[in-house]
Amino acid sequence: MKEISCKLLVMGAGPGGYVCAIRAGQLGIDTVIVEAVKAGGTCLNVGCIPSKAMIHAADEYSKATEMASGRSPFGITVSTPAIDLAKTVAWKDRIVGRLNAGVTGLLKKAGVKAVVGWARFRDGKTVEVDTETGLQVIRAETIVIATGSAPVELPFLPFGGPVISSTEALALKQLPPELVVVGGGYIGLELGTAFAKLGSKVAVVEALSRILPQYDAELTRPVAKRLDALGVKVLTGAKARGLSGKGDALLLEAADGTEQKIAADKVLVTVGRKPQVESWGLEEIDLDRDGPFIRIDDQCRTSMRGIYAIGDVTGEPMLAHRAMAQGEMVAEIVAGHKRAWDKRSIPAVCFTDPEIVTVGLSPDEAKAAGIEIKSAQFPFSANGRAMTLSGEDGFVRVVARADNHLVLGIQAVGTGASELSAAFSLAIEMGAQLEDIAGTIHAHPTQGEAFLEAALRTLGHALHI
Ligand code: FAD
Ligand code: NAD
Repeated sequence: MKEISCKLLVMGAGPGGYVCAIRAGQLGIDTVIVEAVKAGGTCLNVGCIPSKAMIHAADEYSKATEMASGRSPFGITVSTPAIDLAKTVAWKDRIVGRLNAGVTGLLKKAGVKAVVGWARFRDGKTVEVDTETGLQVIRAETIVIATGSAPVELPFLPFGGPVISSTEALALKQLPPELVVVGGGYIGLELGTAFAKLGSKVAVVEALSRILPQYDAELTRPVAKRLDALGVKVLTGAKARGLSGKGDALLLEAADGTEQKIAADKVLVTVGRKPQVESWGLEEIDLDRDGPFIRIDDQCRTSMRGIYAIGDVTGEPMLAHRAMAQGEMVAEIVAGHKRAWDKRSIPAVCFTDPEIVTVGLSPDEAKAAGIEIKSAQFPFSANGRAMTLSGEDGFVRVVARADNHLVLGIQAVGTGASELSAAFSLAIEMGAQLEDIAGTIHAHPTQGEAFLEAALRTLGHALHI
């Protein structure tokens, strides 16, 4: 048994943990990070990055298919395209591998000691790690729990065989001819759309009355329209019941109460993720919980002195950039800086077709908070750049206080809209008023001009509509 001591120990090297460790290392803190699987966590290895790689590959293939069928608006024709999914997955794995090595290199450059193995609390200051070379005991003044999350399993559809989670879906070497997705949220729709574009016959079973229920209906309408055009069957208000006896179909109760059966080579279950709070000794330190999550305050402190928690294990929104921002903040707090969570908003992007971006409050959320608002949207159908990209469906919407024009929220749905999220977040974080956006020159021709026009329209004098 080996023993080491350090000032800061980070458990888990996902976006939360590795960013925390890198920043701590930069600040000269003697830091150890423990990771059981691979640096980069869910996001880099089986989440954000591989899913966006597969979505992009599917888009490319879908464009080629459109060209081959003579439906390309650009007048391009190609002979019948083909896809070798094993090669696509290998390409995706190379991207993941490069980023994986990148994170390991960044940790090293920051002087962080990386330990590979499963960490478990002995007490509030001591963690033991099962490493390949035996048990490693690490004593630390401060510990950051960044253990992330795992897919929720449905008891009547346990993972295994044809029932898969996003992790297996991102590693399939052969396209399932028929794919049923249970859960029409982020993962189900991002991956369901990609598989439909790759050529699978896709059905989505969503329990609530509409897909992506976390977004307002105006934002999700273009996505529903596109799913329809791609031939994706969407069953809302439907309850999955289990696999058929032969395991080749999903049994469900439709919205009208009828029992139905949909043929499925694979059933992708994407009904949410749960915090990873098992098997690392939470019972040894008995931290306060917030539902299933670890309760934290505005400095990510848990109920035990010297123990912080960040990322998915601490609650919604379970997004990589939230985890990273928390990780950076905690490292600075450990270094003695005065920091607290003071972010005005956390952007969210759904990489469907078209993409959805939300930052800050929607009109309904602002009204529900009792704020009198001004709001308007500018359609991409009136934006030159969107037309050149064949991305005319969708809009940018701005929500501002009626009295002082402070921008409270910005949302968009449109092809390539994800890249607008930076401008939206900056505007809200900097406390922009409508006049600030309206007074900023936006390059022409860009989709960003729709943001300018939405602000102008909220002020009552849009120029291009
Ligand atoms: P994780 O990334 O889950 O990392 C936790 C790490 O801790 C893991 O590597 C795990 O092995 C390790 N670990 C856990 N317990 C121990 C232990 N006891 N000892 C040692 N190591 C341990 N978010 C976005 O913002 N944008 C996206 O586009 C996006 N796409 C996604 C797509 C998919 C398919 C999925 C599944 C998720 C996606 N997410 C996305 C969510 C994002 O992946 C998570 O919010 C993010 O990874 C959370 O980071 P984290 O550091 O909290 O935890
Ligand atoms: P989700 O919460 O986005 O969607 C789950 C969906 O499943 C919901 O619409 C819910 O109503 C539905 N559902 C729940 N139980 C059901 C049942 N029994 N039958 C049918 N439908 C059911 O969850 P997810 O898609 O699994 O993603 C998990 C998390 O990962 C997200 O909340 C998000 O935080 C993160 N994520 C983010 C991105 C991104 O930022 N682009 C992408 C993927 C994942």
